[in-house]
Order: sequence, then structure tokens, then C-alpha cells
Amino acid sequence: MQLEVLTEDRPGHTNPWDKDIQLVRDARLGISEYAPGSQVIANGRVWESYGIGQYPKHFMPTRHYRECPQCRHVQIEMAREDFDAACPVCSHPILPTQIRSFIEPKSFVTSSAEPNGKDPGLTRLRPPPTQEARLLSAAADTAFAVSPANVANTSWAWQDAKQGRMFVVNKGRNFGFLRCACGFAEMLRNPVAHIAEIQARGHRSPYNQSCTLNSWHTEDLAHEFHTDVLQIRIDQPIPLPANLRPEEIDGWREGFVRTLVEAARLGAVNLLGIDQRELCGTARSRIFGYPEVVLYDSVAGGAGYCQMLTDRFAMRDLLKKALEVLHCKAECSHSCRTCLQGYENQIHWDKLNRKPVLAWLERALNINQAENPFDRFNAAPLNVTNGSAILQAELESANHLLVVAPRLFNLQKDATDENHFGTPETVAFAMKLVSWMTAGNTLEIALPEPPLIHADFPNSIWVAKRLKTCMEDGSLTLSRLPASFDPRQWPRAIVNPDKNGGRAFFSTSLVTDGFLDLPLPTPLWKGPSPDTAALQAMRLGWVSLDSKALRIPKDTTLLEYSAGQSLDYTRDFSFCKGKNFALIRIEDPFILKTDWNYKQLKRFLDILFPLMASCPAKIELRTRVSEEPDQKLMIQDFEKWLKGKGATFSFQLVPVFGFGKKDFHDRRLAFQPEQSNGKKRVAVLMTGGIDRYLDSKFECSLVIQT
Ligand SMILES: [Zn+2]
Ligand SMILES: [Zn+2]
Ligand SMILES: [Zn+2]
Repeated sequence: MQLEVLTEDRPGHTNPWDKDIQLVRDARLGISEYAPGSQVIANGRVWESYGIGQYPKHFMPTRHYRECPQCRHVQIEMAREDFDAACPVCSHPILPTQIRSFIEPKSFVTSSAEPNGKDPGLTRLRPPPTQEARLLSAAADTAFAVSPANVANTSWAWQDAKQGRMFVVNKGRNFGFLRCACGFAEMLRNPVAHIAEIQARGHRSPYNQSCTLNSWHTEDLAHEFHTDVLQIRIDQPIPLPANLRPEEIDGWREGFVRTLVEAARLGAVNLLGIDQRELCGTARSRIFGYPEVVLYDSVAGGAGYCQMLTDRFAMRDLLKKALEVLHCKAECSHSCRTCLQGYENQIHWDKLNRKPVLAWLERALNINQAENPFDRFNAAPLNVTNGSAILQAELESANHLLVVAPRLFNLQKDATDENHFGTPETVAFAMKLVSWMTAGNTLEIALPEPPLIHADFPNSIWVAKRLKTCMEDGSLTLSRLPASFDPRQWPRAIVNPDKNGGRAFFSTSLVTDGFLDLPLPTPLWKGPSPDTAALQAMRLGWVSLDSKALRIPKDTTLLEYSAGQSLDYTRDFSFCKGKNFALIRIEDPFILKTDWNYKQLKRFLDILFPLMASCPAKIELRTRVSEEPDQKLMIQDFEKWLKGKGATFSFQLVPVFGFGKKDFHDRRLAFQPEQSNGKKRVAVLMTGGIDRYLDSKFECSLVIQT
């Protein structure tokens, strides 16, 4: 990353890198140290960054990112509409306001109005610190089983620089940067007034010409890089001191996790005998709040250190080295230069607190995988692979079931089944539970977070509609678990709790599937129900959720057709009545799969258009690319057909393999009154797609969000 010193009032013929003044930095530091407004000293002069290098060969599309406030996963998408209402890793709901725009600058420029820089003054503008790098490429859960760790309840997964992707961003003062297409850019002090002020003031381009473009964007500056990455999971809950006030919990956890990251990073550095600057660290959070440390090679492209850690050493070696770091020779109270503090982590010094992490890590290292971890409950291992079948069988003789689960159900974007939202197994189990509760039995489910009910995940609407009444009549209760709850200290399911013949099921599994999808994860242990006192201890801090937890949002409707029921499209699409739409977007991977699918699409639009005040101005089609020549012909025919109705047409073919490939399962229609405003739209999701909707011999469901 370079800060180019512009010396002439027009794009020069000399290459910037041929000039005397070399201002080049690692892009990760460059995006903050060279960002507009920052000053740099070189050759005895002060150089101030004025804007962003704009060259035709610099492809700088504006993209969007969102960081999950719960687990810290970062997701990048081309369009804002591509984000769902929940984090794809942890299912935590995320508001659309969390989505931010960014560009990846290739270079920054000074203004040619100051070809010789400035005299060094006494003060220099300090750039705001860049946010620490976040992991973009989270390894799949299965990757954590590849190289076994020799410490109980720990696991790790390594990615080479081909897969390992990190993301660093400069948000300025949290409001981003305002950039004109000429390259001029300024860090924003506030989100609105400052923009108006800059635009009213007028500006000169970096080549010192008065700007006639005035084409504005507000973005963050970011840099994505590939490197070796190691994710380290220590599945042990973070202890919260008893005297902590609720508003102090987040700060405490942050300090704890930061200390753990620094101890692990320095431990790894010592183990490898390398310089502190060679390894960086960050953290993520997992289900039930277990921490995940992310180490990565600081040199872009990776130096191989993370790989060396897993190849040459064991988890125990690494954690023991981390413990050594935490055993401060100076016996400091929190942290000092002897133990955790170094030049690289100075922005975290005030958060580092070694003693609680020391005790916690010692405990992790001393825990030997017990032969029977559920001895104290008198539970014995069950030699089974299908826990779901066991639980379903137990229901027959139960009148009360208590369950602890990572979530109620897995959020699903697509209709995995042509008839229902959700997989057939999940649907069948949910129906079974409903009839079991309707027969007078009681189900209690405790979860770390309330379930998310949102049209982006049509199965959530389906589940809510089924379970809502049970919650209202009291046969179903949902509770929220406290942050410190450790599911491996307690049963996952208790049949007839505290009753004669009551029994409990235990598991060491940490898979995050929902209760409706995976009722009981294996490996399993079975024992008698805990007694009253133990049950009370287990329920400590549980907060029961209001029946509103399963309320379907006001703007959302679920419509269901049973097989043979005749179609009432005037009711289903009543929101179209008398309306004008600027754009209808049709997303369906199979809509052009066969001539039959294509014919149904036209039939459907022929039904739909007459409901509206006028034919929509534009139809956009997004479907899966096909090698068949038919697809091309259908697209040509469709364009002509729409033209005849007065609508324009555009399409996007999503590749299944290779560049630009995307998991694409959605079957969704979006109706937009304004072409460029994707936020204001009606969305329709259907099981089985348009052709099944039109054919009354099939079951079919629709979710409509207005
Ligand atoms: Zn998340
Ligand atoms: Zn401009
Ligand atoms: Zn110390």
C-alpha cells in the first residue's frame, strides 16, 4: 500500500514508484496510516494524505460487510439485500443498520497543491487505530476433528493461506469516509452534518483542479488478505465473578478473552522461537460463550508458523507455554512488561488481567477426560448413534419433558423440502411434539437465546405458527439460560423430572443444531432424573420467555395449501392489487431448468400482471447458469415476451462452480415500488417454486413479508 506524492497538476507520466519519496507500508497498516487526513513524515517533510488513488486499472467496487456482535464473524456481500436477518455462523439476529459499505483502496494520494509536503510541525495528526483483523474464512466444524488435540475439551483447525482470509477495516471515527469520484476523501466526524458541510464547501481534486464531478460515496476503508490461520477452541465457560453487575459482564468477558488471546499468541511465539511481531491474534465466541482464539501469521501470504504449531507441537505444549506467560515473574497484579505487555498489544494493556485466565487455563489442563463424565448423576453410557429415535420413543411414556438445547431450530433460508419449509424430519418431529402437547403433556425448553422468527427464514414462521398455541396454553415453556450455563455439567433432556422412574440423558456433544432438528446429540449417557435439589441448581438463573417469543412479525403471513386445495392467487397476491411496481425480482435456481418450468413462469406472470395497476417497469431474473443452449433461447424469448407487455428485463446467472459461485437455493420474489430502493419491498417465499404453486395437486406454503 502506497501514499503517492502528487507533484504535477495532472496524472504524470512517471510511475509513482519511480519517484524519490517512497511511502510504502503493509496494506494492513496503510489503510489507517495513509488514510485521508493522516500525516506521515518522510525525507524530513510531512506528507498529508488527501484522497484515494483512482486509476482505471484499480477495480474498487463498493461492497458491504457486517460483523456479528455475538460471535464476531464477518460476512461480506456484494449487495445489502444479500444479508439475512441472522448471523450465518451463530444465528444471532443482526439488524440491517449493522451493515456497512467499504472499498479496498489500492493506494492513497497527497494533493499536488503541496508537491513538497509541509514543514514538520510540533504535532502530527494521529490516525485512529484500525480495527483488529477479523476472520472471514471460518473453518467448518468438521475441520476441528482433523488434528486431534491432547487436552480434554479443546480442538483446533488450521487453514493455509489459500483458504485463510482475514479482513481489516478502518472506520475512521466510526462514521467512515466521504469520497468523491475524483479521489478526494475526508474522514467524517459525524454521519450527517459533516457530509453536508463538505459538499457545500466545494473541493479541489488531488490534481488541484476544481472538481466538477461531485459524485459522493460514504464508505469504510478495508483490506482483505490471505494468510495461515489457526483457530483454537477451548470449550470451557468463562467464569463470571459473583459481584459483577450486569452492565459489567461484557467488559469482563472482553478483558478475559483478550488476555487469553495474548497469552496464547505469546505462548506460541515462545514455542516457535520467533519474534512477537510474526504472529497476530484475535478472538471469536462460540455457542454457550466458549471462547475461540484465532492466531494468524502476520506476513500476508503466511509464513507457515500456524502450520508448524499443529504439525510439530501438541495442544498441551501450546497451552502450557501460554500458562508460563501468565505466571508473571514480576508477580504483577494484572499485567506488566514482564508478562503480557508488548509493543504490538499496547492498545489492550488496560484490559489485560492475567490471574483469572491463569486459574481457568490451569483447570482446563488438569481436566482429564473422565471415563464417565456423568458419574455424579449415576449415568451410564448408551451405545447408540441415533439419539432422536430414543427421545421420540421416550415421549410415549412421558408427560413432562425438560430439554436444554443450543437453539430451538436451525434457521433455514430455503425450502429443503418441496412441500414444507424445513426438512421432512424436522417437520415430522415438530408435528409429533405438538400433538403430544395437545394431549395434555408439558414441554420445557431452555436456550441460550430466544428463537429468531423472521421471514428471511421461512421455516421459523412455520415453526412459530405450530408452536405458538402450545406456548399460549402453557403446555410449552421456553426459558433463557444464563451466560455462564455449561451444558456439559447437566442433563440435555429429562423425561418426567423429579418423578419416580424419571430419567435423564446426557451428552458431551457441542454441535449447535436446534432441538427440532437434532433432539438428542450423541454420544449419550442415561441415568435417573436428578433430585429436587439438583434440579433447582440446574435451573438457577433461568428466565422464562414471554409467549411473544414465538409471535409471527406483523408484516409476515404464512399461507398453506394442502394437496388438492384450489389456488386462490387473488388472496395470496392481494398486496399487488392496484399497485405499480418498478421492479419484480424473481430468484429461483430452477426457473429455467426445463421448458415446463419456463412455461409456468409465463403463466404465473400472466395471472399476476392483471392484478396490478400497470405492468411492472422491469423484471429481473436470477437463476442458476446452465450449459444447455435452451437457457439462452428461453432468456431471449422471455425478453421479447416481456417487451410485448411493456417491461424491460435483466438477468443474472449464478454459476454453480468456479469464479463467482454461490450457494443459491432461495426461491424468492421481491416486489419493489422503487427500482433503487431494495429496502422497501414485498418478499414472497414459496416451497417448491412457481410451478408447484400453480399445480393444486401438491402441498405448498408461502411466506409473504410486506
Ligand atoms: Zn454470529
Ligand atoms: Zn471531486
Ligand atoms: Zn506481569
